[in-house]
Amino acid sequence: MKHLIDPTDLTKEEIDQIIDLAQDIIAHRERYQGSMAHRKMATLFYEPSTRTRLSFTAAMMELGGNVLGFADARNSSVSKGETVQDTVRVVGCFADIIAIRHYIEGAPLAAAGVSTVPIINAGDGSHSHPTQTLTDLLTIQRELGHIDGITIGFCGDLRFGRTVHSLIKALSLYRDIRVVLIAPDELRLPDYIKHDVCDKRGIEYKEVRTIDEVMPELDVLYMTRVQKERFLDEDEFDRVKDSFVLDAARMRLAKPKMAVLHPLPRVNEILPEVDADPRAAYFRQVENGKFVRMALICSLIDWKNDPAHKMPEGDTPVDDPTLHCTNLKCICNNEQVPRRFRRLEDGSYRCWYCDSKVK
Ligand code: ASP
Repeated sequence: MKHLIDPTDLTKEEIDQIIDLAQDIIAHRERYQGSMAHRKMATLFYEPSTRTRLSFTAAMMELGGNVLGFADARNSSVSKGETVQDTVRVVGCFADIIAIRHYIEGAPLAAAGVSTVPIINAGDGSHSHPTQTLTDLLTIQRELGHIDGITIGFCGDLRFGRTVHSLIKALSLYRDIRVVLIAPDELRLPDYIKHDVCDKRGIEYKEVRTIDEVMPELDVLYMTRVQKERFLDEDEFDRVKDSFVLDAARMRLAKPKMAVLHPLPRVNEILPEVDADPRAAYFRQVENGKFVRMALICSLIDWKNDPAHKMPEGDTPVDDPTLHCTNLKCICNNEQVPRRFRRLEDGSYRCWYCDSKVK
């Protein structure tokens, strides 16, 4: 069975299939109405969300299926102390597919370990957001006509921005990608993405401090919100929140065919004056999110019993009781799941669930 927990759970061929299917759905919407009739999707949202949850709901409704679940875990058995693994075992008896958003990192991966139906990670803490990645890839494909060969600038909160982490991982499957990281020191990209993804898989990257110095090079500018809910320290949030703002003057420095993406919600990092610019793709991106989720739901349900679509073999997890994940927001420090680690080439370890450093 195939789950989508991390973008690299999909092969390049599977991503291509999903993007092609999404494009076919866009071109022939009537053909897909009713294709998920009598199927049910559960959306288990332990963290606030508007776009992602409604996008999943709209996607399933447009396919003729039904949706159940919760948007606020306080109204579920979670408030009685139920673990995410038990909740998923129960909900799997009612639904054909489950989308989970959780503020605890690694929760969807732990859930997939016990689930009898496909699990989709709809965002876990500041770790990963693979369905936003599929949305972003479809948007780049539709805006520019290609993904290979692009130079993409990521601007703003690269430290906590899970959409950035996931998209960089997925871009490592494409050819000749150049990444420009535009962020203040406090919000730089985590080392595990720079080293384990960019360095290892040959993505060329550079770090800069202003948008202006790189704007003319970019094919895509990926803006992000500075996420208050990810900061443990409010003063640090206040110091960096207004750091990088896109306005009409900066857009004049860009290529005529550049695309501006943003996973939304925006706060003040893109001024409304940019919205009318034809290169502002962020509202088209939202619509692409629904189409790509339609394609993903159909694919994961179709692939469920197909041995050609398995989870990747990957590394062998190391179970060592002397190792501890340092991330207090990781599932392994919040619920009773087996502690597991991934051994890196240099002999150090990372947490299996959240990729954090290990003591
Ligand atoms: N919507 C995106 C996410 O869920 C970005 C954000 O919240 O700022 O990660």
